[in-house]
Amino acid sequence: MPPEVSEVPAKYRLPVPDDGFDDLLAANEVFARDFAYGGFDGIAKAGVALVTCMDSRIDPLRMVGLRPGDAKIFRNPGGRVTPQALEAIVLGVHLLNVKRVLVVPHTRCAVASNTEADLRAAVEASAGVDASWQPIHVVEDQDAALAEDVARVRSHRLVPDTVLVGGSLYDVDTGRLDRRV
Ligand SMILES: [Zn+2]
Repeated sequence: MPPEVSEVPAKYRLPVPDDGFDDLLAANEVFARDFAYGGFDGIAKAGVALVTCMDSRIDPLRMVGLRPGDAKIFRNPGGRVTPQALEAIVLGVHLLNVKRVLVVPHTRCAVASNTEADLRAAVEASAGVDASWQPIHVVEDQDAALAEDVARVRSHRLVPDTVLVGGSLYDVDTGRLDRRV
């Protein structure tokens, strides 16, 4: 089992500034009052791993009828199977009960509908400084990228053939998943 995260020793703790997060922490107080997921062991109870985009329109658990505790979720811009996503999948498959992996990019995704130059220019306009050094990975052909990403999981030497791997495009305007791979 993965090691538990240990308490940070007091001498390394930074003073917590009282700004900017009050609403979130207050909401957490309410959330924790009737918290029902204590004592879970961190496995994916439904045997599912999802790789999807960071997009705020995606509710990865609810869109496939799952709840906290059911699935491992890895998110990044575009929902791509990056080396770190593969690392998560390998850990999920071997240590955390993952038996199915679904890769879920989505419609109207910023990294699939802009060029790298356009996104970088927009970042630079916001930041007011050079951003040429910052990698921004865009997707030119979403279906081709999804097929490639699914193949990357299926062909990984540490992902056995018994693991089911699929790819679906999520429509952010209808909430529907369209199986593509
Ligand atoms: Zn996206």
